[in-house]
Amino acid sequence: MKLIERLIEKGGSDSGSRNFVGPKISENVVRLIRRHFPSYVESDSSKKKKKEHRENVCKEVAEASMQSAALEEVTLTNSSDIIISGDGTWKTRGYSSRVGVCAVIGDKTGKCIDAEVMSSFCKGCDSWKRRKGSPAYKKWKILHVKECLKNHNGSAGMMETVGMWFVYFSVH
Ligand SMILES: [Zn+2]
Repeated sequence: MKLIERLIEKGGSDSGSRNFVGPKISENVVRLIRRHFPSYVESDSSKKKKKEHRENVCKEVAEASMQSAALEEVTLTNSSDIIISGDGTWKTRGYSSRVGVCAVIGDKTGKCIDAEVMSSFCKGCDSWKRRKGSPAYKKWKILHVKECLKNHNGSAGMMETVGMWFVYFSVH
């Protein structure tokens, strides 16, 4: 059975849940995205709901795909001591990007086994910056902290270094 179908049937890939669905090496997760994605999105949902749903599905598939790649890497290495490399990419060129992605790549498979999105910008924080210090800002900030997209201060070039540090030490 294909991974997406199993995810739908069992209810997700959250490793903490009882319904955890781990990917099998034989499942080609990348191919499944294209084939199964449209039917997975409910057609009667609002545009915002569809976007949220699409983002959740993409996140689940990406995590499952990386788990699968990690499993494949461990299997090919015949050990959990695997050799990896790291690489960074940015949304825009010219060392001024506000968004970057750090990827951890397995030596044997060449596949991405973990990734971290780095951002020095948050639309929410930006829209509230003029009201900093106000009581309304303080209330908003308390709720916003857990969903803030900004996780990087400093240059775009440092995103790669800091992102790798986040991945290796699981700081999120
Ligand atoms: Zn924010």
